[in-house]
Amino acid sequence: MADIEYGRDSAKDILILGGGFGGIAAAMELEKQLHGEIKRGLVRITLVARDNFFLFTPLLHEVAASDLDPSNIVNPIHKLLRHANFFCGEIESVDLVARRVNVRHGVSNTPHQHGHTLTFDHLVLCPGSVAGFGDIPGVEENALSMRTLGDAVTLRNRLIESLEVANADCFAQMRAPLLTFVVAGGGFAGVETAGATNDFLHGALRHYRALTPENVRVILVHSGELLLPELGPKLGTYTAQKLSKAGVEVRLQTRVAGCQPDCIELSDGTKVPCHTLVWTVGNAPHPLLGLLPCMTERGRVRVDKHLEVPGWPGVWALGDAAYIMNEETGKPHPPTAQHALREGKVVARNIAASLRDQDKVPFRFKTIGQLAAIGHRAGVANVFGVQFSGFVAWVMWRLIYLSKLPRLEKKLRVALDWTLDVFFSKDVVQLSTPAPKHVSTDHSAI
Ligand SMILES: Cc1cc2nc3c(=O)[nH]c(=O)nc-3n(C[C@H](O)[C@H](O)[C@H](O)COP(=O)(O)OP(=O)(O)OC[C@H]3O[C@@H](n4cnc5c(N)ncnc54)[C@H](O)[C@@H]3O)c2cc1C
Repeated sequence: MADIEYGRDSAKDILILGGGFGGIAAAMELEKQLHGEIKRGLVRITLVARDNFFLFTPLLHEVAASDLDPSNIVNPIHKLLRHANFFCGEIESVDLVARRVNVRHGVSNTPHQHGHTLTFDHLVLCPGSVAGFGDIPGVEENALSMRTLGDAVTLRNRLIESLEVANADCFAQMRAPLLTFVVAGGGFAGVETAGATNDFLHGALRHYRALTPENVRVILVHSGELLLPELGPKLGTYTAQKLSKAGVEVRLQTRVAGCQPDCIELSDGTKVPCHTLVWTVGNAPHPLLGLLPCMTERGRVRVDKHLEVPGWPGVWALGDAAYIMNEETGKPHPPTAQHALREGKVVARNIAASLRDQDKVPFRFKTIGQLAAIGHRAGVANVFGVQFSGFVAWVMWRLIYLSKLPRLEKKLRVALDWTLDVFFSKDVVQLSTPAPKHVSTDHSAI
């Protein structure tokens, strides 16, 4: 089908590329700031994203570990946005000179897909980042990542499938590789995934009579000297001790050197027989950004203090896609959700100011705090410079993220899941089942 072009009437088109923390915050703030203009048909806001939901990444590891139902940590974009249009599809290319964006949509794996060209007066670039696997042999092909809802569900399925298979007598000799799980990365995502995975596996063992705690190995591999280096040496050391006590093998100053389907090689020469590597290391810049003619820094789009792209009026960037210098520290703002949210609001205010010929505001923000849940109902936190650890930090982690999760309905659902967790054991249910295949008759005695 021929590409369709729309836009180009008297209304100003604001196009937001991405429906994550930054894109949703920008769209919601624009709805507020430009409410009157939208109603009078003077401004049109369109948000483009490949998923029709907003994913709350801080709770992703809880889905992998069966603590939370997957749909509870996502919010439908249709319910979050009241006046903006939503285009559910793939962003294929961005032409800053012609001020056009090519997008594609249609039902997956069918021929019924086609493209559209969207034009814009203001463009907000916030497609996030992608997983960076580096050049380590076999990692991209064999590792699982932890960035999307699909990734968390895949990991959950893998954990349960491994338990099911290892429990069978005919796989008794394979128990070691089946039940060894290596998590690469000692940052927030890696530590939280290792802690939650370890708790889930040990909690699930009661359903698998042939398996004992000695069969399960969770190994956390981190290249640095300290886990969670952003939280400082005291909390980093505490985290390593707490994870080790819970049974996680913490390997510091070690890297993954290679990954095959049945073995992972570490930089110290150790070969770990294992089928599952979870890769939480490294954010790579989004590939769309590398093709843009504007200035980039380590693959991220450089913006000025108003979050506008220098030399490209009406083009804005934020979140993981943007390189935003913090003038107070002389370092770039970190790529976190708490930053992306606030950047989205500032971009919205500045777009409204540009449309009304008013002064723009600079982006100023200092990290409020950082928190991690490290398993066994323990956490670590640094909030306003005060450090917390143990059960108190874990409760803080839950309360703070519950308060940040958008929409009352989802807060209640998550709170209910967490409450029920106190009384019932976790589900060991795979969330997708493969299509039935022909079964061999090797086990004809059954
Ligand atoms: C496991 C995990 C845990 C995290 N925990 C925390 C935490 O506890 N606290 C914290 O502050 N930060 C956390 N982060 C970081 C935080 O999630 C990111 O910094 C934040 O999401 C960045 O927001 P963004 O809007 O730039 O991008 P994202 O939120 O990544 O959104 C990008 C959007 O663009 C869309 N998109 C991308 N490419 C295309 C395309 N080609 N076509 C269509 N749509 C596209 C995506 O579907 C998505 O809607 C975590 C990240 C991960 C992965």
